[in-house]
Amino acid sequence: MPEGDTVWKTAQLQHAALAGKVLEKTDFRVPKYATVDLSGETVHGVVARGKHLFHRVGSFSIHSHLKMEGVWRTYRAGERWTKPEFKARVILDAPGVQAVGFELGLLEVIPTADEHTVVGHLGPDLLGPDWDAVEAVRRLVADPEVPVFVALLDQRNLAGVGNVYANELCFLRGMLPTRPVGEAPDLARTVDLAERMLQANKQRFTRSTTGDLRPGRTSWVYGRAGKPCRRCGTTLLGGELGRLEGQERVVTWCPRCQS
Ligand SMILES: [Zn+2]
Repeated sequence: MPEGDTVWKTAQLQHAALAGKVLEKTDFRVPKYATVDLSGETVHGVVARGKHLFHRVGSFSIHSHLKMEGVWRTYRAGERWTKPEFKARVILDAPGVQAVGFELGLLEVIPTADEHTVVGHLGPDLLGPDWDAVEAVRRLVADPEVPVFVALLDQRNLAGVGNVYANELCFLRGMLPTRPVGEAPDLARTVDLAERMLQANKQRFTRSTTGDLRPGRTSWVYGRAGKPCRRCGTTLLGGELGRLEGQERVVTWCPRCQS
């Protein structure tokens, strides 16, 4: 799953390429929207809300979610695509530029006025203009029995934390991923740290939670099960954790630094 900073960067790049341009051609390659034609409409902008993307075109919004494999790419006119054509779900042609959404986990066209109906359930957006740390904490503790790792990933509590950040936050705050969120110390600090991590990473290509951008040094625990803890040397443990069966995510933790 992409983190909120990836989605934010995608929106920035799409916005820079398309905003203010009139679409010359649109091609929706999903059955439900195959007949939708937004050519002749102006792209007002591209925004991210949590992990959701909205390309605002005319009075409509192309709503997409990257889910597992999705990406948006922009190409200059005539440039060769970097992904196979059969993976394209939507193609937007504007003067001099082509935007292509590949393998999007969700793609729909809705009136812009209805955007709130698809993201209204989201908690405060860590990278949004309306970020509200107090509200995020309030939502996190509303269900105190939930493991803190699961609560941090739940986009209804706060929007933008994915698997990488959830693991790193638990480590940096000394909490086992399984600790009930109601027993997590000082969630305001955890939420503040989440916001600073996403802000620090949103403009750069290499994501790092350690401050070190060199390959293999960008995380404390994420992707490092079986390797020594960077802080105490203890072998990091790994497992899976989720609210429901089928929703488990990979967790990694230090049995000594986290309790
Ligand atoms: Zn440790």
